Amino acid sequence: MTLSELQRHLERRGLRTTQPRLRLLQFFNQTSGHFTPEEIAERFRLAGEPIPIATLYQNLRVFSEHGLIGEVIGHSGELRYDTNLNPHSHLRCTHCGDLLDVVLSLPDLQPQGLGHDWQITGARVELQGICPACQTTAAPQLRPTL
Ligand SMILES: [Zn+2]
Ligand SMILES: [Zn+2]
Repeated sequence: MTLSELQRHLERRGLRTTQPRLRLLQFFNQTSGHFTPEEIAERFRLAGEPIPIATLYQNLRVFSEHGLIGEVIGHSGELRYDTNLNPHSHLRCTHCGDLLDVVLSLPDLQPQGLGHDWQITGARVELQGICPACQTTAAPQLRPTL
């Protein structure tokens, strides 16, 4: 997306266009992953374009409320912002906390009995496991010791 497209993106949602907002949107547009506000601040600091942390917190919240970014809870219960806006599920490594976006074909999740009269608008599925990297490092412990 170009800068002017990003700007239209904000305007369509009735959001004022500011430099930090455009830069943030650009970041989410070009980066994949799940970031804490501190990690995002660090990226901008390293790029020589620091954004004040309060501004960052506030804009992330606004973006999230307007559906421009997603939210996911990290390994230690911390809030992370998700750059992937396509519907997806998460694979979580119980060893290192790594999160991977995966697309699952979900079965019909309409509740039977209680909740049958709800209109279901979405589902969050999280699978837990051990990532390939952790499988490698954890392998020696899995072998029986002599
Ligand atoms: Zn892992
Ligand atoms: Zn994700």
